[in-house]
Amino acid sequence: MEVIIITGPPYSGKGTQCDYLKKRTNFDHISTGDRCRLEKKNGTPIGLIMSEYEENGNLVPDSVIKDLFTKILKGCESRGVILDGYPRTVCQVDDLIEITSELNLEIKLVINICVPRNELLKRAEIRMKSSDRKDDRIEIHSKRIEIFENSTLPAIEYFRSKINVIDVDGVGTLDEVSSRIGHILSGPDVQ
Ligand code: AMP
Repeated sequence: MEVIIITGPPYSGKGTQCDYLKKRTNFDHISTGDRCRLEKKNGTPIGLIMSEYEENGNLVPDSVIKDLFTKILKGCESRGVILDGYPRTVCQVDDLIEITSELNLEIKLVINICVPRNELLKRAEIRMKSSDRKDDRIEIHSKRIEIFENSTLPAIEYFRSKINVIDVDGVGTLDEVSSRIGHILSGPDVQ
């Protein structure tokens, strides 16, 4: 099974670009954020642990997310998957490399969507107006961006030292960003 990883800060449009990637590749889309919310909604033991972290904008502990993520991948039967929201810490990069090697998965492409902080905050404000998610509060939004900068940016740099990570400019319309990603999919970085 092939793996495409899409990473980037909160509000960088990862979810929408995953929809685009899904149409282009026919791979399954796995969002760890969506899976956390699903476990919570189903009231599973793992969901109960995760709900407090998720609602406060904190990252779920690496070991909990590793178990969830391994369970999801083991149950996945498609030709390929698009990972959205994993890895987010240096430890998760190592976990991902371990899991993909154990399950014989091939990391085909890592895309990092780059959006400056002021643009992220603008987008967060717009989303707050139209959302009923419990983590949609301004202090939570700022915290999520801070966590990205403190934990996920170093993880992306660590990942870059092990594997080719391709940066994509995430400023512009959704179609413009999709078109940039489309060029990468058709380009020499993807076998
Ligand atoms: P998202 O929808 O991707 O923004 O994720 C929502 C929430 O789910 C995050 O704020 C975390 O609490 C949790 N979460 C999702 N992915 C991860 C991850 N890779 N590591 C830790 N927590 C995660």
